Amino acid sequence: MNLWQNYIRPKTLSEAMDAFAHAPRPLIPIAGGTDLLLDLEQGRHSPVQTLIDVTSIAEMTLLELRGDELFIGASVPVNRIALDPLAVRHAQALTEACNLIAGPQVRNVATLGGNVAHALPAADGTIALLALHAQAEISSALGTRRISFKELFLGPGKSALKHGEELIVGFYLPRSTKHQASCFKRIMRPQGVALPILNCAVWLERKTAAIKDIRIAIGPGGGTPFRASQAEDTLRGQPLNETIFESALEALLAQAQFRTSPRRASSDYRQHIVVGLFKDVVETAWRRAQ
Ligand SMILES: Cc1cc2nc3c(=O)[nH]c(=O)nc-3n(C[C@H](O)[C@H](O)[C@H](O)COP(=O)(O)OP(=O)(O)OC[C@H]3O[C@@H](n4cnc5c(N)ncnc54)[C@H](O)[C@@H]3O)c2cc1C
Repeated sequence: MNLWQNYIRPKTLSEAMDAFAHAPRPLIPIAGGTDLLLDLEQGRHSPVQTLIDVTSIAEMTLLELRGDELFIGASVPVNRIALDPLAVRHAQALTEACNLIAGPQVRNVATLGGNVAHALPAADGTIALLALHAQAEISSALGTRRISFKELFLGPGKSALKHGEELIVGFYLPRSTKHQASCFKRIMRPQGVALPILNCAVWLERKTAAIKDIRIAIGPGGGTPFRASQAEDTLRGQPLNETIFESALEALLAQAQFRTSPRRASSDYRQHIVVGLFKDVVETAWRRAQ
């Protein structure tokens, strides 16, 4: 049985919306296909009538500064983000995450939009974007709107996108200024190529010897991509030393819901290894923000 009947490749957002309105249903957007094609082939996604390929929509392939923000189109492949000087300058944690996703062949086609739309709580690009305070631009026949990452995720594999009606066009991130920096690291099985055992992204702003502001994202730390807001509250306004770090870690462990994933790691193991990973990522961002 064919897994799809029609393949449409719009060049503009309005052509895509036209396809959403008129193409035979069920229909679904496809970008790099690195998640979706496996899901279709292995029966985790029911067969569809129409695939709408979003990789030729010009607006969705841009990566550029827009005023005080960096815009990254949802169809930009992650290898391009990893190497882009603007992304390195304003979103270092994201470039580090993109550089670790899968291997080179997958990175050449896998997109940031696909990484986010799949709504997995430990997706590397998603966790970096969460710490970088990204907003998603969503388009439908009704127009375009922006939503925060908090509103975007509803549960493992579940986003707030209206299926068959809405597309993620791209992501807006605040530009980085002096004394702000970010970092992303992850812990992975030595032979692993898919989602990590644990990842962590931190963005922080430094004011002389103290942390002026901080955002911490950890995957998987719950059913949706997790912000360690209580650890952030503990660290904000404080100098970075062992005592404050221990308090922040305590807050993080109390708030995060580390679960056991059969093929990757137990909850206990994640609680154990988060200690070193969290410290390493916070300290690296702190040094970079000097
Ligand atoms: C071997 C292998 C290794 C991998 N390793 C990693 C890893 O290390 N870290 C990691 O995070 N992920 C990993 N992945 C998962 C996957 O490659 C990434 O999540 C990738 O970024 C998905 O992007 P894509 O363009 O291929 O998405 P697709 O497979 O095309 O789409 C994924 C989902 O998103 C939807 N979608 C795509 N674009 C849009 C859009 N613009 N708007 C709305 N919905 C959209 C699709 O309908 C589909 O439901 C791996 C996958 C493979 C096969």
